[in-house]
Amino acid sequence: MTCSAGFPGYIQRCFSEDATDGHKYARMRYAPATQCGLDTHDGGDNLYPFTGLNRTMVVAIVSSVCAVSACLSAEPASWKAGVAKESITPREPVWMAGFAARNGPSDGQLTELYARALALSDAQNNRLVVVTLDLIEIPEALRDMIAGLARKRHGLKPEELLVNVSHTHGGPMVSSKTVAEWGLDPVWGKRADDYVAFLLKRIDAVIGNAISSQSPATVGYAGARCDVAMNRRLPTAEGMRLAPNPDGPVDHDVPILRIESAEKKLVGLVFGYACHNTAMGPTRQLNGDYAGFAQQKLEKDHPDTVAIFLSGCGGDQNPARRRNEEDAVQNGLALAKAVESGLAATPIVLDASLAIRLATCPLAFAPLPPRAELEARANSPDGYVSRHARWVLREWPNPGDQPADYPLPIQVVELGGKLTLVALGGEPVVDYSIRLKRELAAEGQSVWVAGYSNLVHAYVPTRRVLQEGGYEGTEAVIYQALPGPFRMDIEDRIVDCIRREVAAVRTKRQAP
Ligand SMILES: [Zn+2]
Repeated sequence: MTCSAGFPGYIQRCFSEDATDGHKYARMRYAPATQCGLDTHDGGDNLYPFTGLNRTMVVAIVSSVCAVSACLSAEPASWKAGVAKESITPREPVWMAGFAARNGPSDGQLTELYARALALSDAQNNRLVVVTLDLIEIPEALRDMIAGLARKRHGLKPEELLVNVSHTHGGPMVSSKTVAEWGLDPVWGKRADDYVAFLLKRIDAVIGNAISSQSPATVGYAGARCDVAMNRRLPTAEGMRLAPNPDGPVDHDVPILRIESAEKKLVGLVFGYACHNTAMGPTRQLNGDYAGFAQQKLEKDHPDTVAIFLSGCGGDQNPARRRNEEDAVQNGLALAKAVESGLAATPIVLDASLAIRLATCPLAFAPLPPRAELEARANSPDGYVSRHARWVLREWPNPGDQPADYPLPIQVVELGGKLTLVALGGEPVVDYSIRLKRELAAEGQSVWVAGYSNLVHAYVPTRRVLQEGGYEGTEAVIYQALPGPFRMDIEDRIVDCIRREVAAVRTKRQAP
């Protein structure tokens, strides 16, 4: 039998040498290192069933690991951490983002929408502020305004701020430009601009409150698993359809950052998951969808804690159940339950050191179609197709015009020399998460990959997804106001950028 440590809280990748099923992954098993081996789950909804090894073997492995790690007996307390949340629910009707099927503005609210923040400072006073928003996107103008206020009001450098959206389709549009692109009444554009002015005040408050509430803390990393997400790219004879695909790639990991006060009280949680936040469907009641319900449940069960959801690489992932409010609630409860499982496991304690890099990775677009083709599209009876074609003809009128590269933000944060958090802009498909965790992990080094960070209004496909065609790489560009699909080298460019930044951040940490 061989084992390797990896996903925290679990004895991972244990498989028997004499297993004969012939499939490596079928032999991969996860055993939670809960409570120093005194308690092992073996069949919960959100944990991989423990079926490959017998219980005695696992308890022996877990016990030996706990003996080495001393089970939190020497936690450093030199972090400073503060958390906060503020409602960002619109106070008047708005046009909601995400589903084109809506035929009217918002009509009340099902849940509050929130801005949540974690402010972390390490022993050398290096800082990171994570702000999450129950919104669908972060257009460039909004990103610049948030970064501007963070710098002006709180002295934060751009790399010290990580903004992530839950991608709920139950929130307001946040750009009058988007309202115009959708061909809606300009009154809703004005309403979107008014909302953004209100939003910025709340973001200012949540950052300020998180920073001012900082106090000595310990920070630990743990993990769990949750099976809410299913791949949504289904190959058919007619091409790739947007439909559940149980055989497609998924990432069911739930990475968790737990922040405890000097008195060992849980005061903050950050948890990630890679799945579209779209279980509710096109209701006109404002809501935070399943991720909102997950945060609500965790905060109810831990009243002194702010639970912060960090969207993962869920560009091509949907909740398997996504018909109505009940599905959204159940998905949220399942995710919250997974987080609870992770909290029961022994975390990796992170020393108080932060190293951060923020870079822009330029992504090139494929050459535009011939002008005659664009002109034909401009006469399409489909309003989205014709509006997009007319926009492209207006912006790039000459044959041979090439749109400027798309500036994908890539942020890399290393915590305690043991956890590398990669936060990607846009809506990355799950391949990025799977590949980066595999390729960037090192001995004693865990990797967490977030998407939907810092600039979010475009799908980020991989080469495979572009080659296959379908929604995320190709069809969605007209809804996201991109000139066209990205070039096939997109994945190479992104992975190269990330590798460079990860190497730089690891070197930065090691520098005296
Ligand atoms: Zn999306």
